[in-house]
Amino acid sequence: MAPIAKRDLTKSNAQFRKALKRLPLGVASTFRYWGDDRTIYVDHGKGGRTWDIDGNCYVDYRLGYGPAILGYADDRVDAAARRGMEVGGVFALSTERELAVADRIAGMVPAAELVRFSNSGTEAVMAALRLARAHTGRDSYLLVEGGYHGLFDAAMWMANMEDWDTRSNRDPEVVSYGQGIPRTLKELAHLVPMNNCERLEDTFRRHGNTLAAMLIEPIQGNCCAISADVEYVQLARRLCDEYGVLLIIDEVKTGFRVGKGGIQGIMGVTPDITTFAKAVANGYPIAVVAGREEVMRTFRYGGASHGGTYTAHSVSLAAAEECLRILDETPALETLASYGERLMAGISKILDARKIVHSYTGHPSMFGLFFAEKAPNNYRDWKKSDYSFYDQMAYHLHDLGVICEPDSREPWFMCEAHGLDESCLTDTLKAVETAVDLTLEHFEEEAKHA
Ligand code: PMP
Repeated sequence: MAPIAKRDLTKSNAQFRKALKRLPLGVASTFRYWGDDRTIYVDHGKGGRTWDIDGNCYVDYRLGYGPAILGYADDRVDAAARRGMEVGGVFALSTERELAVADRIAGMVPAAELVRFSNSGTEAVMAALRLARAHTGRDSYLLVEGGYHGLFDAAMWMANMEDWDTRSNRDPEVVSYGQGIPRTLKELAHLVPMNNCERLEDTFRRHGNTLAAMLIEPIQGNCCAISADVEYVQLARRLCDEYGVLLIIDEVKTGFRVGKGGIQGIMGVTPDITTFAKAVANGYPIAVVAGREEVMRTFRYGGASHGGTYTAHSVSLAAAEECLRILDETPALETLASYGERLMAGISKILDARKIVHSYTGHPSMFGLFFAEKAPNNYRDWKKSDYSFYDQMAYHLHDLGVICEPDSREPWFMCEAHGLDESCLTDTLKAVETAVDLTLEHFEEEAKHA
């Protein structure tokens, strides 16, 4: 294949070297560091595309990890945010708009009987867990392997898949995400593999009476969109009821994306508490903790604390009001899901023509791509899958003007603007075809030298 011109990252590379002197890793969030010569700095985004400071244009399937559900710089939401600016920001007092947004959310998600706001997904899940602990008087909680619930201490326990021997009968070790998490917290966190009903029942038998909550993302938005079987989530619901445990469905990524009522609406399982963030306001910082009235009323003086200076900021709230109106009253979600379906079909056509076995996980609005006949059923399965083809393909896609996460554990996200701009699809598929061929060449070369 003729050599492909590499994108020019001269300005981004220079910015990286300058930023490194002031910002750890040269970035504001660790996950934005993609290597000394591949960390990009954004000039702006519009619709389904992002432009870096070198002028490279990308069809963007990260969408900031999901928030830009309508597309970047959406005129309708930005106009609403500007009106929110005129309100004045924060007062440490309430505005009428809070109720209007809460009513909208309750109308879209039946489990959201009562609603509170937070600023980020982390804050919302942190509030949800505190609420569950306050309501039950218990401290322990159950997480699902491969799940991610934000960067607060209690949520930062994970199954160590890197060092897990797939042939062993032992469970992967429970470790913290990085340093700085107090070891004394470890005994409160229990982990179960997704989609293993026997293990779930066994864990509840052993620990059910001490658990405040079970947290689950039925589509794992940080683990390739691996999906729970409906029966698994239904079993979780039954076991929670039996043992007096609160079920928290974390819809920070799936909420207002996979459907108006989230993944819980699709699966028909009602949580006690639910959390939303990304798609609520098309990228303006706001999150939601909502749930059953009796549980939510534990947020009171003398009960579970909840609040924060920036909670329900007038700009984010106004953006949320408009974004949720659009998602509720227009076919935006259908538009982006149907784009996702066409994208998956297009990618499959390219891969099938080269006899490359593959499969998808998740939902057309946020899907994971696997180079195996059967997609993994849980995080343990993921360890057995070969993701080297994906990693190499993602590397080439970036050079070819398509941004997906370099780590195969992050799904591809669709936005309404992708669906309204046919060139997003044609540009992406052209890039995928080239990236796949370059990846095949790469592995052929590697095999020759093996
Ligand atoms: N829960 C889930 C399911 C998430 O995907 C994330 C973020 N990726 C969070 C919580 C934390 O959200 P934030 O990054 O807004 O703090």
